[in-house]
Amino acid sequence: MKLNDAQIDDLTGKVFRTIVGNGKGGILQSELWKELDLTSRDGSRVAIRLEKRSLIRREKMLENGRWTYKLFAAKLPVDTLSIEKAPCLTCPVEHMCSLEGSYSPITCGPIEQWLVTSLEILNQKKTEVEQPI
Ligand code: SF4
Repeated sequence: MKLNDAQIDDLTGKVFRTIVGNGKGGILQSELWKELDLTSRDGSRVAIRLEKRSLIRREKMLENGRWTYKLFAAKLPVDTLSIEKAPCLTCPVEHMCSLEGSYSPITCGPIEQWLVTSLEILNQKKTEVEQPI
């Protein structure tokens, strides 16, 4: 069954969280499709969306004699709360957003604010570790 745009929207957050959950090692897209019970067509649509938003990167690699992609989080967020609040996951203009477009992560206020807040939380956590009570 082909997924509609709303279903793809719902899946985007789930796919992103799974990729982030695999940390620095990333995850082969075939493993991810299996884990989330996705067809390679729908999974690829979601992965390409996330890559367009600069949230993940896809690295082409040879696996068992076949070309595939491994998916990595572009930046690992501070914690899961931070991921849940990523503005791209619920952005109404996401489908029009690209590096070269009129909506772009380069000029986006919400994404900048999200990164600043995530960084503040990270710095706060570092301070707590350095100065235990
Ligand atoms: S406009 Fe901003 S929040 Fe929306 S998808 Fe693009 S970068 Fe993300």
